[in-house]
Amino acid sequence: MMNLKKILIATTNKGKLEDIREILKDMKLNIISFLDFNDYPDVIEDGETFEANAKLKAKAAFKKYKIPVIADDSGLSVDQLSGAPGVISARYAGENATDDDNNKKLIRELEKYSEPHHAKYICVAVYYDGNSFVSAYGECKGKIIKKGRGTNGFGYDPYFVSDNYELTMGELSLEEKNKVSHRLKAFEQLKHILEKL
Ligand code: IMP
Repeated sequence: MMNLKKILIATTNKGKLEDIREILKDMKLNIISFLDFNDYPDVIEDGETFEANAKLKAKAAFKKYKIPVIADDSGLSVDQLSGAPGVISARYAGENATDDDNNKKLIRELEKYSEPHHAKYICVAVYYDGNSFVSAYGECKGKIIKKGRGTNGFGYDPYFVSDNYELTMGELSLEEKNKVSHRLKAFEQLKHILEKL
């Protein structure tokens, strides 16, 4: 049997992992993830940029397992809030905030601004082999609406309407969301770069 190149995806998120597997499927890789270990590193994501945080995750994973790693970091950036919630998207309303807490805070912060509230989801994906990094960027542009709709997706999805759709990301199917997703774009770009190496 051919010896496939092993690559570690630094995530425990099954949904994310499935998406990444699908994007990289023709690269003939043996893809594993943190789900294959029970002692994966818990990284404090205190970088100032998405790229810095993705690199922190990749470095910690490589240090522990000595396997080439792909890691990503993502979040929401709202123009009228100077890019907030940005790298603190997951904990915008506080350390143990739920999606609901974060969404409430977002709508509160936007109260003094008029619509449209232009925003974008951003994802940076990085590959690290112990020597050098390859970084790729993806974004999905849209706007925030004040009254959430839909229960699909996660995070800010009920309040985010992508430029390509009328429905919120909370109302779209996963398949429709993934057609325009920031994560998809970042990972596709990463794949193109890695294929040329
Ligand atoms: P992480 O990159 O998985 O750590 O995600 C960071 C945070 O950004 C999430 O907890 C969400 O609040 C937000 N976020 C990232 N991607 C999405 C998305 O596709 N939909 C909604 N929220 C997202």
